[in-house]
Amino acid sequence: MKLLQEKILNDGRVSGNDILKVDNFLNHQLDIAFLNEIGKEFKNRFENEKIDKILTIEASGIAIASIASQHFGNVPVVFAKKVESKNLDKEVYETKVYSFTKGKEYSVKVSKRYLHEGENILILDDFLANGRAALGLKDLVDQANANVAGIGIVIEKGFQEGRSLLEKEGVKLESLAILESIENGVITFK
Ligand code: 5GP
Repeated sequence: MKLLQEKILNDGRVSGNDILKVDNFLNHQLDIAFLNEIGKEFKNRFENEKIDKILTIEASGIAIASIASQHFGNVPVVFAKKVESKNLDKEVYETKVYSFTKGKEYSVKVSKRYLHEGENILILDDFLANGRAALGLKDLVDQANANVAGIGIVIEKGFQEGRSLLEKEGVKLESLAILESIENGVITFK
């Protein structure tokens, strides 16, 4: 997606050799008109799929999924919770995810009320790195006996193993921008 590549080149900042910071449009400050274009593009990529619900993970996925939903007929958006909360139902689907950015494992939960057998679920997230978050979300869908209709990623770090792990699972994966490298502060795309 050309617009996304331009945005990454103009506004992205590289931290070390493997982290891309996009805080000023995706991860902290949100560019709503731009997110709307992202949502439209996800709809193009998954046009032929029947989508009943979108599943994402807090926090950065929520805005992306919410705006994307409007291009999928306002389907419900469910976000998996990372943060412990007394308000969460006792009956949950739960999985463990190792966080690449935080360097630790955490628990991810969705109430059983919000994922149902046979539903077609589109998983959306901001980044794909080693695929742990996406695999964790897929695990929650599997536990509910629902179907993963596809996985949509805004920015894939093509130099990490996420894609190969997800392809082994046989899911349709669409990334709107794929980074080939961000070494020495130089961003290149595949
Ligand atoms: P994975 O689970 O695929 O290893 O990593 C994906 C998750 O880690 C995403 O949900 C995202 O929050 C975070 N992440 C991984 N790499 C980056 C990065 O380079 N920049 C940012 N901003 N987040 C990242």
